[in-house]
Amino acid sequence: MKRELVKTLPKIELHCHLDGSIRPETLRKIAEQQEILLPVDDAALKELLIAPKDCQSLNDYLERFDLVLTCLQTEEALKTAAIDIISQAAEENIQYIEVRFAPSLHTEKGLSLPQVISAVLSGLEYGQQAFGVKSNALLCGMRHEELKDIEKIVHLAEEFKTNGIVGFDLAGNEIDFPPYTFEETLTLVDHLNIPLTLHAGECGCGKNVADAIHLGAKRIGHGIALKDTPEYFSLLHEKGTLIEMCPTSNFQTKTVTHLEDYPFQTFLDNGINICINTDNRTVSDTTLTDEFMKLHEWYGITYADMEQLNHNAINGAFISDSEKQILHDQLTNSY
Ligand SMILES: [Zn+2]
Repeated sequence: MKRELVKTLPKIELHCHLDGSIRPETLRKIAEQQEILLPVDDAALKELLIAPKDCQSLNDYLERFDLVLTCLQTEEALKTAAIDIISQAAEENIQYIEVRFAPSLHTEKGLSLPQVISAVLSGLEYGQQAFGVKSNALLCGMRHEELKDIEKIVHLAEEFKTNGIVGFDLAGNEIDFPPYTFEETLTLVDHLNIPLTLHAGECGCGKNVADAIHLGAKRIGHGIALKDTPEYFSLLHEKGTLIEMCPTSNFQTKTVTHLEDYPFQTFLDNGINICINTDNRTVSDTTLTDEFMKLHEWYGITYADMEQLNHNAINGAFISDSEKQILHDQLTNSY
Protein backbone atom coordinates (compact mmCIF):
# COMPACT_ATOMS: atom_id res chain seq x y z
CA MET A 1 0.00 0.00 0.00
CA LYS A 2 1.17 3.55 -0.73
CA ARG A 3 0.93 6.13 2.04
CA GLU A 4 -0.45 8.85 -0.23
CA LEU A 5 -3.30 6.64 -1.40
CA VAL A 6 -4.03 5.32 2.10
CA LYS A 7 -4.26 8.94 3.20
CA THR A 8 -6.75 9.91 0.48
CA LEU A 9 -9.00 6.83 0.67
CA PRO A 10 -12.13 7.35 2.82
CA LYS A 11 -11.82 6.11 6.40
CA ILE A 12 -13.88 5.88 9.59
CA GLU A 13 -12.66 6.38 13.14
CA LEU A 14 -14.57 5.41 16.28
CA HIS A 15 -11.99 5.72 19.07
CA CYS A 16 -10.36 9.14 19.32
CA HIS A 17 -9.94 11.14 22.54
CA LEU A 18 -10.38 14.90 22.35
CA ASP A 19 -7.76 15.80 24.97
CA GLY A 20 -5.12 13.46 23.51
CA SER A 21 -5.48 14.64 19.94
CA ILE A 22 -4.95 18.41 19.81
CA ARG A 23 -2.11 19.55 17.56
CA PRO A 24 0.73 21.11 19.59
CA GLU A 25 0.44 24.34 17.57
CA THR A 26 -3.29 24.56 18.33
CA LEU A 27 -2.63 23.97 22.00
CA ARG A 28 -0.10 26.82 21.87
CA LYS A 29 -2.81 29.19 20.57
CA ILE A 30 -5.26 28.02 23.24
CA ALA A 31 -2.64 28.52 25.96
CA GLU A 32 -1.68 31.99 24.71
CA GLN A 33 -5.31 33.14 24.85
CA GLN A 34 -5.40 32.15 28.50
CA GLU A 35 -1.87 33.37 29.27
CA ILE A 36 -0.78 29.87 30.24
CA LEU A 37 2.99 29.54 29.81
CA LEU A 38 4.19 26.71 27.58
CA PRO A 39 7.78 25.89 26.62
CA VAL A 40 8.85 28.32 23.87
CA ASP A 41 10.70 25.59 22.04
CA ASP A 42 8.42 23.38 19.89
CA ALA A 43 10.48 20.27 20.55
CA ALA A 44 10.23 20.82 24.30
CA LEU A 45 6.45 21.29 24.02
CA LYS A 46 6.12 18.07 22.02
CA GLU A 47 8.09 16.25 24.66
CA LEU A 48 5.46 17.22 27.22
CA LEU A 49 2.60 16.10 24.97
CA ILE A 50 3.83 12.93 23.28
CA ALA A 51 4.21 9.68 25.21
CA PRO A 52 7.92 9.00 25.80
CA LYS A 53 9.67 6.06 24.15
CA ASP A 54 10.32 4.59 27.58
CA CYS A 55 6.69 4.96 28.69
CA GLN A 56 6.22 2.25 31.32
CA SER A 57 2.49 1.73 31.65
CA LEU A 58 -0.99 3.04 30.91
CA ASN A 59 -0.82 5.27 33.97
CA ASP A 60 2.52 6.68 32.77
CA TYR A 61 0.91 7.34 29.37
CA LEU A 62 -2.06 9.07 30.98
CA GLU A 63 0.29 11.61 32.63
CA ARG A 64 0.82 13.17 29.20
CA PHE A 65 -2.68 14.61 29.46
CA ASP A 66 -1.94 16.88 32.42
CA LEU A 67 -0.76 19.93 30.50
CA VAL A 68 -3.51 19.70 27.87
CA LEU A 69 -6.18 19.47 30.52
CA THR A 70 -4.85 22.62 32.21
CA CYS A 71 -5.52 24.43 28.92
CA LEU A 72 -8.94 22.89 28.18
CA GLN A 73 -10.98 24.66 30.83
CA THR A 74 -12.88 27.28 28.80
CA GLU A 75 -15.64 27.00 26.22
CA GLU A 76 -13.47 28.69 23.59
CA ALA A 77 -10.61 26.25 24.22
CA LEU A 78 -12.90 23.20 24.00
CA LYS A 79 -14.50 24.44 20.79
CA THR A 80 -11.08 25.13 19.25
CA ALA A 81 -9.88 21.65 20.25
CA ALA A 82 -12.90 19.99 18.64
CA ILE A 83 -12.47 21.98 15.42
CA ASP A 84 -8.78 21.03 15.38
CA ILE A 85 -9.58 17.31 15.50
CA ILE A 86 -12.10 17.59 12.69
CA SER A 87 -9.57 19.45 10.55
CA GLN A 88 -7.08 16.62 11.13
CA ALA A 89 -9.75 14.09 10.18
CA ALA A 90 -10.44 16.03 6.98
CA GLU A 91 -6.75 16.03 6.06
CA GLU A 92 -6.76 12.25 5.81
CA ASN A 93 -10.27 11.89 4.41
CA ILE A 94 -12.02 10.50 7.45
CA GLN A 95 -15.70 10.47 6.48
CA TYR A 96 -17.09 9.90 9.94
CA ILE A 97 -15.50 10.18 13.38
CA GLU A 98 -16.71 9.63 16.92
CA VAL A 99 -14.77 11.90 19.30
CA ARG A 100 -14.84 11.03 22.99
CA PHE A 101 -14.16 13.11 26.07
CA ALA A 102 -14.77 13.13 29.83
CA PRO A 103 -16.75 16.29 30.71
CA SER A 104 -15.68 16.13 34.37
CA LEU A 105 -12.04 16.83 33.40
CA HIS A 106 -12.95 20.28 32.08
CA THR A 107 -14.69 21.90 35.04
CA GLU A 108 -11.63 23.12 36.99
CA LYS A 109 -12.26 26.77 36.18
CA GLY A 110 -15.96 26.71 36.82
CA LEU A 111 -17.57 25.45 33.59
CA SER A 112 -20.67 23.37 34.23
CA LEU A 113 -20.85 19.88 32.70
CA PRO A 114 -23.52 20.94 30.15
CA GLN A 115 -21.35 23.94 29.18
CA VAL A 116 -18.41 21.61 28.53
CA ILE A 117 -20.53 19.32 26.38
CA SER A 118 -22.14 22.15 24.43
CA ALA A 119 -18.75 23.73 23.72
CA VAL A 120 -17.33 20.50 22.28
CA LEU A 121 -20.48 19.87 20.24
CA SER A 122 -20.38 23.38 18.81
CA GLY A 123 -16.77 22.77 17.71
CA LEU A 124 -17.72 19.48 16.05
CA GLU A 125 -20.66 21.16 14.33
CA TYR A 126 -18.43 23.98 13.11
CA GLY A 127 -15.90 21.41 11.89
CA GLN A 128 -18.60 19.58 9.98
CA GLN A 129 -19.63 22.79 8.21
CA ALA A 130 -16.06 23.90 7.52
CA PHE A 131 -14.45 20.57 6.56
CA GLY A 132 -17.35 18.33 5.57
CA VAL A 133 -16.50 15.61 8.10
CA LYS A 134 -19.49 14.05 9.81
CA SER A 135 -18.96 13.52 13.52
CA ASN A 136 -20.62 12.64 16.79
CA ALA A 137 -19.33 12.50 20.34
CA LEU A 138 -19.21 9.96 23.16
CA LEU A 139 -19.16 10.96 26.83
CA CYS A 140 -16.64 9.22 29.07
CA GLY A 141 -16.92 8.61 32.78
CA MET A 142 -13.53 8.34 34.49
CA ARG A 143 -13.18 5.07 36.39
CA HIS A 144 -11.54 6.59 39.47
CA GLU A 145 -14.42 9.00 40.02
CA GLU A 146 -17.28 8.58 42.48
CA LEU A 147 -20.10 6.47 41.08
CA LYS A 148 -22.62 9.26 41.66
CA ASP A 149 -20.49 11.61 39.53
CA ILE A 150 -20.23 9.05 36.75
CA GLU A 151 -24.00 8.64 36.91
CA LYS A 152 -24.36 12.37 36.24
CA ILE A 153 -22.46 11.89 32.98
CA VAL A 154 -24.81 9.06 32.01
CA HIS A 155 -27.80 11.36 32.51
CA LEU A 156 -26.10 14.03 30.42
CA ALA A 157 -25.55 11.49 27.64
CA GLU A 158 -29.29 10.94 27.72
CA GLU A 159 -30.01 14.69 27.79
CA PHE A 160 -27.77 15.42 24.80
CA LYS A 161 -28.87 12.35 22.83
CA THR A 162 -30.49 14.33 20.06
CA ASN A 163 -27.68 16.90 19.92
CA GLY A 164 -24.68 14.82 18.91
CA ILE A 165 -23.88 12.66 21.93
CA VAL A 166 -24.34 9.12 20.64
CA GLY A 167 -22.89 6.94 23.38
CA PHE A 168 -21.17 6.39 26.70
CA ASP A 169 -17.76 5.01 27.67
CA LEU A 170 -15.65 4.40 30.77
CA ALA A 171 -11.99 5.40 30.50
CA GLY A 172 -8.96 5.56 32.78
CA ASN A 173 -7.55 3.16 35.36
CA GLU A 174 -8.83 -0.29 34.39
CA ILE A 175 -6.63 -2.29 36.79
CA ASP A 176 -8.11 -0.84 39.98
CA PHE A 177 -11.62 -0.36 38.60
CA PRO A 178 -12.72 -3.40 36.57
CA PRO A 179 -16.10 -3.48 34.77
CA TYR A 180 -18.28 -4.89 37.58
CA THR A 181 -17.35 -1.91 39.78
CA PHE A 182 -19.86 -0.07 37.59
CA GLU A 183 -22.66 -2.62 37.40
CA GLU A 184 -25.31 -0.24 38.69
CA THR A 185 -24.16 2.63 36.46
CA LEU A 186 -24.10 0.43 33.38
CA THR A 187 -27.53 -0.97 34.17
CA LEU A 188 -28.74 2.63 34.07
CA VAL A 189 -27.01 3.12 30.71
CA ASP A 190 -28.84 0.07 29.45
CA HIS A 191 -32.22 1.23 30.79
CA LEU A 192 -31.77 4.59 29.12
CA ASN A 193 -30.89 2.83 25.87
CA ILE A 194 -27.59 4.67 25.50
CA PRO A 195 -25.17 2.87 23.16
CA LEU A 196 -22.21 1.64 25.21
CA THR A 197 -18.54 1.16 24.37
CA LEU A 198 -16.07 0.35 27.14
CA HIS A 199 -12.31 0.49 27.45
CA ALA A 200 -11.55 -3.10 28.49
CA GLY A 201 -8.65 -5.50 28.16
CA GLU A 202 -6.32 -2.57 27.58
CA CYS A 203 -4.18 -3.38 30.58
CA GLY A 204 -6.40 -5.67 32.62
CA CYS A 205 -7.32 -9.27 31.81
CA GLY A 206 -9.40 -10.84 29.03
CA LYS A 207 -12.19 -11.49 31.50
CA ASN A 208 -12.71 -7.70 31.68
CA VAL A 209 -13.68 -7.82 28.01
CA ALA A 210 -16.24 -10.57 28.63
CA ASP A 211 -17.55 -8.72 31.71
CA ALA A 212 -17.86 -5.50 29.72
CA ILE A 213 -19.93 -7.34 27.10
CA HIS A 214 -22.12 -8.93 29.77
CA LEU A 215 -22.68 -5.42 31.15
CA GLY A 216 -23.97 -4.24 27.78
CA ALA A 217 -20.95 -2.97 25.80
CA LYS A 218 -21.58 -3.14 22.05
CA ARG A 219 -17.97 -2.17 21.39
CA ILE A 220 -14.74 -2.64 23.30
CA GLY A 221 -11.90 -0.13 23.34
CA HIS A 222 -8.58 -1.98 22.81
CA GLY A 223 -9.56 -5.48 23.98
CA ILE A 224 -5.98 -6.66 23.59
CA ALA A 225 -5.97 -8.93 26.65
CA LEU A 226 -8.67 -11.00 24.99
CA LYS A 227 -5.88 -12.75 23.05
CA ASP A 228 -5.02 -14.79 26.15
CA THR A 229 -8.60 -15.92 26.76
CA PRO A 230 -9.81 -17.57 23.52
CA GLU A 231 -12.63 -19.13 25.54
CA TYR A 232 -14.41 -15.78 25.19
CA PHE A 233 -14.12 -15.56 21.39
CA SER A 234 -17.50 -17.26 20.93
CA LEU A 235 -19.14 -14.63 23.15
CA LEU A 236 -17.90 -11.92 20.78
CA HIS A 237 -19.16 -13.89 17.76
CA GLU A 238 -22.54 -14.35 19.37
CA LYS A 239 -22.92 -10.68 20.32
CA GLY A 240 -21.22 -9.25 17.22
CA THR A 241 -19.03 -7.10 19.47
CA LEU A 242 -16.65 -4.73 17.69
CA ILE A 243 -13.11 -4.31 19.04
CA GLU A 244 -11.73 -0.80 18.53
CA MET A 245 -8.03 -1.57 18.09
CA CYS A 246 -5.45 1.20 18.57
CA PRO A 247 -2.10 -0.35 17.60
CA THR A 248 0.40 2.45 18.32
CA SER A 249 -1.20 3.26 21.66
CA ASN A 250 -1.09 -0.39 22.77
CA PHE A 251 2.68 -0.56 22.29
CA GLN A 252 3.20 2.74 24.11
CA THR A 253 1.21 1.68 27.16
CA LYS A 254 3.18 -1.61 27.18
CA THR A 255 -0.03 -3.58 26.80
CA VAL A 256 2.13 -5.46 24.29
CA THR A 257 5.87 -5.16 23.88
CA HIS A 258 6.60 -7.55 20.99
CA LEU A 259 4.97 -7.50 17.60
CA GLU A 260 4.45 -11.27 17.74
CA ASP A 261 2.23 -10.71 20.80
CA TYR A 262 0.00 -8.19 19.04
CA PRO A 263 -3.30 -9.96 18.35
CA PHE A 264 -4.37 -8.25 15.10
CA GLN A 265 -3.89 -11.40 12.99
CA THR A 266 -5.18 -13.69 15.75
CA PHE A 267 -8.38 -11.68 15.96
CA LEU A 268 -8.81 -11.69 12.18
CA ASP A 269 -8.12 -15.42 11.91
CA ASN A 270 -10.67 -16.13 14.64
CA GLY A 271 -13.41 -14.03 13.07
CA ILE A 272 -13.31 -11.30 15.73
CA ASN A 273 -14.89 -8.10 14.47
CA ILE A 274 -12.28 -5.31 14.61
CA CYS A 275 -11.69 -1.76 13.42
CA ILE A 276 -8.64 0.52 13.54
CA ASN A 277 -8.21 3.78 15.44
CA THR A 278 -5.65 6.31 16.66
CA ASP A 279 -6.78 6.56 20.32
CA ASN A 280 -4.80 9.80 20.81
CA ARG A 281 -3.37 11.52 17.77
CA THR A 282 -0.95 13.74 19.69
CA VAL A 283 -0.04 11.66 22.72
CA SER A 284 0.53 8.66 20.43
CA ASP A 285 2.02 10.87 17.69
CA THR A 286 -0.02 9.12 15.00
CA THR A 287 -2.75 9.42 12.36
CA LEU A 288 -5.22 6.86 11.06
CA THR A 289 -3.08 6.72 7.90
CA ASP A 290 -0.07 5.82 10.06
CA GLU A 291 -2.05 3.07 11.77
CA PHE A 292 -3.07 1.44 8.47
CA MET A 293 0.48 1.78 7.13
CA LYS A 294 1.83 0.03 10.22
CA LEU A 295 -0.60 -2.84 9.71
CA HIS A 296 0.54 -3.04 6.11
CA GLU A 297 4.20 -3.18 7.18
CA TRP A 298 3.58 -5.64 10.00
CA TYR A 299 0.98 -7.95 8.45
CA GLY A 300 0.92 -7.08 4.76
CA ILE A 301 -2.71 -5.92 4.80
CA THR A 302 -4.09 -4.86 1.41
CA TYR A 303 -6.48 -2.11 0.30
CA ALA A 304 -9.26 -4.72 0.39
CA ASP A 305 -8.43 -5.49 4.05
CA MET A 306 -8.37 -1.79 4.82
CA GLU A 307 -11.76 -1.34 3.17
CA GLN A 308 -13.20 -4.20 5.22
CA LEU A 309 -11.83 -2.77 8.48
CA ASN A 310 -13.56 0.52 7.65
CA HIS A 311 -16.84 -1.24 6.79
CA ASN A 312 -16.55 -2.95 10.20
CA ALA A 313 -16.23 0.47 11.82
CA ILE A 314 -19.35 1.71 10.01
CA ASN A 315 -21.32 -1.32 11.17
CA GLY A 316 -20.33 -0.59 14.76
CA ALA A 317 -20.84 3.18 14.61
CA PHE A 318 -23.52 4.63 16.86
CA ILE A 319 -25.56 6.06 13.96
CA SER A 320 -28.72 5.10 12.09
CA ASP A 321 -28.87 2.41 9.41
CA SER A 322 -29.52 4.99 6.71
CA GLU A 323 -26.44 6.97 7.75
CA LYS A 324 -24.43 3.75 7.72
CA GLN A 325 -25.60 2.92 4.21
CA ILE A 326 -24.37 6.27 2.89
CA LEU A 327 -20.93 5.62 4.40
CA HIS A 328 -20.81 2.04 3.10
CA ASP A 329 -21.57 3.32 -0.39
CA GLN A 330 -18.88 5.98 -0.17
CA LEU A 331 -16.35 3.32 0.75
CA THR A 332 -17.46 0.84 -1.88
CA ASN A 333 -17.28 3.47 -4.58
CA SER A 334 -13.79 4.64 -3.60
CA TYR A 335 -11.82 1.44 -3.01
ZN1 LIG B 1 -8.93 5.19 24.57
